[in-house]
Amino acid sequence: MNTPLVEFVGAGPGAEDLITLRGLRALEQADLVVYAGSLVNPGHLKRCKPDCECRDSAAMNLGEQVTAMSEAALAGKRVVRLHTGDPAMYGAINEQIRALAEKGIASRIVPGVSSVFGAAAALGCELTCPDVSQSVVLTRTPGRTPMPKGENAAAFARTGATLVFFLSTGKIDDLMTALMGEGGLSPDTPAAVVYRATWPDERILRGTVSDIARKVEEAGFGRQALIFVGRALDAQGGASRLYGADFSHGYRNHLANEAFDGRCALYAFTDKGVVRAKEIAAGLGLPAVIHSTRPTGAPDVVHTPGETFDATLSANWRQFDAHIFISATGIAVRKIAPLLRDKTSDPAVLSCSESGSHVVGLTSGHLGGANRLARRVARVTGGQAVISTATDVNGLPAFDEAAAQEHARILNTDAIRSLNAALLSGEPIAFCGPRTVFDRHFAGTDQVIYTDSPEAVTARHAVLWDAEGTVPEEVQHLEITGKSFVLGVGCRRGVEPLELRLIAEGHLSDLGLRPEHIAAIASCDVKADEPAILELGEKWQVPVEFHAAARLDAVPVPTPSAKVREKVGTASVSEAACLLSAGYGSIPQPT
Ligand code: SAH
Repeated sequence: MNTPLVEFVGAGPGAEDLITLRGLRALEQADLVVYAGSLVNPGHLKRCKPDCECRDSAAMNLGEQVTAMSEAALAGKRVVRLHTGDPAMYGAINEQIRALAEKGIASRIVPGVSSVFGAAAALGCELTCPDVSQSVVLTRTPGRTPMPKGENAAAFARTGATLVFFLSTGKIDDLMTALMGEGGLSPDTPAAVVYRATWPDERILRGTVSDIARKVEEAGFGRQALIFVGRALDAQGGASRLYGADFSHGYRNHLANEAFDGRCALYAFTDKGVVRAKEIAAGLGLPAVIHSTRPTGAPDVVHTPGETFDATLSANWRQFDAHIFISATGIAVRKIAPLLRDKTSDPAVLSCSESGSHVVGLTSGHLGGANRLARRVARVTGGQAVISTATDVNGLPAFDEAAAQEHARILNTDAIRSLNAALLSGEPIAFCGPRTVFDRHFAGTDQVIYTDSPEAVTARHAVLWDAEGTVPEEVQHLEITGKSFVLGVGCRRGVEPLELRLIAEGHLSDLGLRPEHIAAIASCDVKADEPAILELGEKWQVPVEFHAAARLDAVPVPTPSAKVREKVGTASVSEAACLLSAGYGSIPQPT
């Protein structure tokens, strides 16, 4: 008689035709099959002989399983233990093999297609990719089975290998946090989750380490799913998926009501907060500095211990256009309170919940752009922007918001409140200015009436936008100029006027501006007779201002040049002249 034997057969990931021929033959000949009912496709059991006994291991403990299998094997029956995927991965076969051996029963393993390969096939990609990743780590998060020391996800992430997590969807949020935190993965690292690979109801979610947890949560996937992480996922023609419809990416966002240009400071107070801050910074694609009150060791995060936080915030206050707190709103409010001055000059402040679910615009909703930035951040986190400014709540086009979107400057900021109040109370308001601006912002409301000249205004309120003339005395008006920038110019002697103009217009266009935005051109008095500069002023119909070299040299600038000073007598021509003409000559500039 043959030695009594139990065959451990890998059933494959799900689909009935993904079992091996050898495995199938073993099933067809079996007298007893013990199968993992929760994961093995019961369709496989149709291949068994009619008199084959099939038992679901879910209802049996290890002792009962071993007893059933050993009794049958010792009685000369053919026994198959059917495991999901390949038995080598989390199959818990060692303990069975050992217990059977104690009873004199041999074991043989028939490999199967592991779910990792079923899922990789579903993803349509190779897990190894030259120059990207040549290793794959098959691992899990700790559950009832703890992880041995040194085998943590973050450590694996730091190797750059492609990571595959079994048995881990329940903890995906913490897992991704760890990968981005201690694991050092950038928030845009591709991630994917495959649910019930190769089954008829298979589903795939793609995203990044920063958004995949949320997607899984929304999809409500159970445990029968695998998590994939790594650049290899995107390396073979998959990159375009990153830019698919469901992937929100800040830089691709050109919506006017989400427009924001400027430097952002982000403040985090917890590890999760740091991860959220990184996600936001990456998604916005704007210059950003992340501060954390907790040490992270990450080179791109500034450690700002609690004791020095207030001083840091105060030093940052004017250096950044936006301050984003990853915290409760209350924390942000208390921290910024001593620094707030005026809604026309305060920077934008937002608070974003650690989960990213709510992004609250706290100050400078219009002029400072906090509302626009809140919408944009919410798009990055997949959360909701909380906007409370009265005009927005009522769907009305606030005048200060229109000015901000047009890069225009309000000359009498005191009047903002009364004009917006008139808008809210339904009063008619005359608009004198460029038709294009009117069409972009006010054409949708009957309340704002296009009026040709200020003199013809009959309403009690008016907006004068680069309008020539004055309104009747009793009309309360807001004065706005689109000419809100100064262009500083320096050039070599005798430069072609056309060359200078094309460079200048190209530069403006890069910044989203036009010559109509320019209030003045500024340079050094040694250039007072430079034809190219004078002609630029004429072409654009803009005044040109020349400043003495000694005055320019006293203006602090971001990039002074000793060589220029030697030649012209000032370390900066265009930067210093620009700042001086714009009225910033004596304010120290950000370094
Ligand atoms: N031996 C199996 C793994 C058993 S552990 C194999 O090689 O696939 C159980 C885990 O495997 C599940 O938590 C899930 O992470 C994964 N899994 C099993 N079947 C799966 C499938 N069809 N699709 C996705 N994941 C699956």
